[in-house]
Amino acid sequence: MDERNTDIQYLPGVGPRRAALLRAELGVSSLEDLVRVFPFRYIDRSRTVPISELSSEEAFVQVKATVVTRNLISIKHLSVIVDDGSGRLELVFFKGVKWTFDKLEPGRSFVFFGRPQLFNGRLNMVHPEIDSLPGPGTETGGLTGVYPSTEKLKNGGVTGKVMCKLQRAALDRVLPSITETLPRSLMAERHLCPLAFALKNIHFPSDTAALEAARYRMKFEELFYLQLSLLKQKYVRSRQSEGIPMPKVGAAFHACYKALPYKLTGAQQRVIKEIRADMAGGRQMNRLLQGDVGSGKTMVAVLSCLLAVGNGYQACIMAPTEVLARQHFDNLRKYLAPTGLECALLTGSTGRKERRTILAGLADGSLPLIVGTHALIEDPVIYRQLGLAVIDEQHRFGVGQRSRLWAKGPGGVAPHVLVMTATPIPRTLAMTFYGDLDVSVIDEMPPGRKPVQTMLIGQERLRAMYRFIRSEIAAGRQVFVVYPMIFINEKMEDVSNVEQGYEEIVKEFPLSDGYKVAIVHGQQSNEQKDFNMRAFAEGRAHILVSTTVIEVGVDVPNASVMVVRSAQRFGLSQLHQLRGRVGRGAEKSYCILVKDLKTTAEAAKRLELMCATDDGFEIAEQDMKMRGPGDLEGTQQSGLPVNLSIASLTRDGILLERARESASALLEADPFLARPEHAVLVAELRKGKFDFKDYSGIS
Ligand code: ADP
Ligand code: MG
Repeated sequence: MDERNTDIQYLPGVGPRRAALLRAELGVSSLEDLVRVFPFRYIDRSRTVPISELSSEEAFVQVKATVVTRNLISIKHLSVIVDDGSGRLELVFFKGVKWTFDKLEPGRSFVFFGRPQLFNGRLNMVHPEIDSLPGPGTETGGLTGVYPSTEKLKNGGVTGKVMCKLQRAALDRVLPSITETLPRSLMAERHLCPLAFALKNIHFPSDTAALEAARYRMKFEELFYLQLSLLKQKYVRSRQSEGIPMPKVGAAFHACYKALPYKLTGAQQRVIKEIRADMAGGRQMNRLLQGDVGSGKTMVAVLSCLLAVGNGYQACIMAPTEVLARQHFDNLRKYLAPTGLECALLTGSTGRKERRTILAGLADGSLPLIVGTHALIEDPVIYRQLGLAVIDEQHRFGVGQRSRLWAKGPGGVAPHVLVMTATPIPRTLAMTFYGDLDVSVIDEMPPGRKPVQTMLIGQERLRAMYRFIRSEIAAGRQVFVVYPMIFINEKMEDVSNVEQGYEEIVKEFPLSDGYKVAIVHGQQSNEQKDFNMRAFAEGRAHILVSTTVIEVGVDVPNASVMVVRSAQRFGLSQLHQLRGRVGRGAEKSYCILVKDLKTTAEAAKRLELMCATDDGFEIAEQDMKMRGPGDLEGTQQSGLPVNLSIASLTRDGILLERARESASALLEADPFLARPEHAVLVAELRKGKFDFKDYSGIS
């Protein structure tokens, strides 16, 4: 009997309650789902570490020891001292206190599994797993898988041990009817072991070699299907997506181009050519424009908009924040002056009367160009002929918002889409997230930009830093001081540290000495934010204290110093963005990263990379390597839109490339996957694990 689709609740030891938990926490409904939840780590159960040799550097270890004393410090705090002959160790429990107290009787021995950590100068272990000593003859010896888990699962009784039992039972039922999910030829070519072998050994490895083979196979399979679904979408779309043909260049483009105050860089010219070819071709453009901070993406956006206008269509530029939208608007108006074209700004704070005029202009087509925030894609906004949408700093846009834009084209034909991002994305990520987008890269900076001198300092050098800032202000420059954004919950930003920072700065730079300091953070109203931001942009404030609301795009060429407080709390790519805010004028600029006292050596090392290079791509690559994505225990990619269960976009770059090559070659040979030996591929794709529906909305 084929039990692959059997409901998980019928597995002995599960039942309706645990089934609901497994479904909610791990997305597991059937037996096959369950056996596809893989261990993310393996413990060598044959190895225990003497207490005297423990160190806080170690990850999870196993200790075999005897309980000496148990001390109930409060009803929610149990402290247990154990001894293994080599030394003593404190175990600490804040949950399941009563149960643990009863179990850990003095004199009895157990195997404890956990992570040693340093607390008040001494090692302890918080909430170790507790196992009875293996009785004679039951020694398992080998590698035991550790499965992804959550508090809820553990509280619901699905502990690591229970999970192992469930996996064993599920495998027994599922394996007999398992069928291969990859074509034979591919397996031979890539030296992949059979699925049944892989499943068995990934859960219960017979030895390390078998485990390696099993993991390799499962990772490859996952990455292969990820790439196959992306490439297939791209393939299908490239033949289906009707686009608005825009063969002309038009007078506006020429007028603007001729009046440019500078010569376009080679990279800008190349990218504009790529965009022109796309828009002229009769297929819908879906292009990602990547370019480091300050590489001149705005100009490319403006000229692209003018192409659309030159062909009788409207264009919009959408920015993630009001401040950025306004800045684009101001720039656009400057560039448009020689063309005589009209342009408007639409944001959440546009007045009602003005709004009505703008909406009317968009609806009857008399307004050719519009800049704004997500207000541009709200329901009441109707375009007569939207031909191009430019999305700036796309990563701030919600997925749903992007697909709404998609629907705003004329007569159901989607507008051309140009997505601009200054966040350099490592190659492996780009292949995944933009696997079905065309990518243009501006890899050349406008001439005359001086690299920003970056330094990392500790608290003890704040005085010297303030002296330096005073001298810069005296020389007519302006200064950013940025604090990390800390959230109380998803919506609420904790602004206490930026407010404290503001107090500190105002004390150092008092109004009585002629200093003006502005502050911007997420708890201010849009008007407040805008007002303060403008005070700085227009040179009325010397210092801007803020959270990362200023991270993207904001252009204040006169600012020469970027101070980042608690720098260790930022990602490198984010720091790189911040640093890009200075060095835009002619003067020499500085980025001062201030680390907190408790910064770890590892975090400091990350920050030092910032001082060593200003190549955004290198930084992004290193950042991902060093940090590795992921919060939830055992998941590697939380926060990313693909949910990989075993492969890692960080660590399996080479495998990803191989998988992509295989997928590409396969589609090349059999574009519709019509061959009988490819039926298995169609069946797997149909399961929809990697449906990027939302992404294809814009891409
Ligand atoms: P980003 O790619 O970060 O959006 P911007 O478009 O804001 O960069 O450009 C950064 C600065 O460089 C702007 O002040 C812009 O006027 C200037 N700029 C853009 N292109 C050139 C160029 N080809 N030559 C000189 N300056 C340029
Ligand atoms: Mg920009």
